[in-house]
Amino acid sequence: MSVTREQVLQALTPVRLPASGGSLVASGRLSDVVVNDGRVMFSIAIDPTEAQAMEPVRAAAEAAVKALPGGPQVFASLTADRPVPKGPVTETPARAGIQPGRPAGAPQPKAQGIPGVKHVIAVASGKGGVGKSTTSCNLALALRSLGLSVGILDADIYGPSMPKLFGLHGKPRVLSGRILEPLDGYGVKVMSIGFMVEEETPMIWRGPMVMSAITQMLREVAWGELDVLVVDMPPGTGDAQLTMAQATPLAGAVIVSTPQDLALIDARRGVAMFRRTEIPILGIVENMATFVCPNCGTTSHIFGHGGARKEADRLGVPFLGEVPLDMTIRETSDGGRPVTAIDPDGVHAQVYRGIAEKVWATLAGGRARVAPRIVFE
Ligand code: ADP
Repeated sequence: MSVTREQVLQALTPVRLPASGGSLVASGRLSDVVVNDGRVMFSIAIDPTEAQAMEPVRAAAEAAVKALPGGPQVFASLTADRPVPKGPVTETPARAGIQPGRPAGAPQPKAQGIPGVKHVIAVASGKGGVGKSTTSCNLALALRSLGLSVGILDADIYGPSMPKLFGLHGKPRVLSGRILEPLDGYGVKVMSIGFMVEEETPMIWRGPMVMSAITQMLREVAWGELDVLVVDMPPGTGDAQLTMAQATPLAGAVIVSTPQDLALIDARRGVAMFRRTEIPILGIVENMATFVCPNCGTTSHIFGHGGARKEADRLGVPFLGEVPLDMTIRETSDGGRPVTAIDPDGVHAQVYRGIAEKVWATLAGGRARVAPRIVFE
């Protein structure tokens, strides 16, 4: 029988904070406790400087809940995303061993970097259905084809698509402690909440749990040494996306848009969102730009053409490339055989490689940090 929320709160009552000795439950730092299908999820609000000092609290909270009858699966994480209600625990950043991740003058990050991961980039779109996940997957594979070590994190927790796109179905192995081993998709390390839940299970997330799940997938995964970790963001520009953008130490963001005006308006919102968080825009990708008829070879511009390039110019951000609307891309994506992996010398792979080269040039050249601030009216 599944444990109840009340049982979880009772189990957490003896857990104390290190500095004040006060109860975690009473401190206001504990998120809502969610019990779902026998799994227990919660997060503990910390100041970023408290990460090390608060880890034993997280571990104690997790152990206390695991000890409940039936030994439930527990997802407990620290989050620096909510304000901490009480004074910080008395551990200075230096004593806690936290190193500043960016050079002086760079925007103050809200989250620490991920050890071993050189660059974390977000792929985002103003709305769903524009091909953001397809682009993320093929961009990751194209970066891999440049000889880089690459991971992809499916942060689109409302509709995870990486298992399908990479044709991966296993569950990640749990390594020592609570660290998950990412799955291998054509040489790219892949992690998705989709590996942890049954397919077709509707995922209902309450605010704090979104952060908790994403933080866990970022930090409690054996990413190893990566040149680039591509994060497939949830679609849209609401609070969830903003929170996510602030919680992840991002080197930059790639915005995916279709050529329709409406989608471009959404893309502009995406650009504005990253500007608000001072995350550099690596550029805009125009997806479904042209349609080449598989029968007669005629090229048509179903959704108009060139809008994304013009928009990129207007906003002063790089235009990364145009991906055609093509049956092969849809079929290979939906069939778990991404085109960049299965036909690395084909025309589509070349388009994605061109995008990857531009992204990598910016990251490797360190230009991501000094990208201009975009003025958005
Ligand atoms: P999003 O992540 O923005 O919701 P997806 O990547 O899931 O979008 O793509 C939505 C659908 O469009 C999928 O069926 C995908 O295969 C298809 N698709 C995406 N890009 C292309 C493209 N360039 N050509 C053809 N189909 C595409």
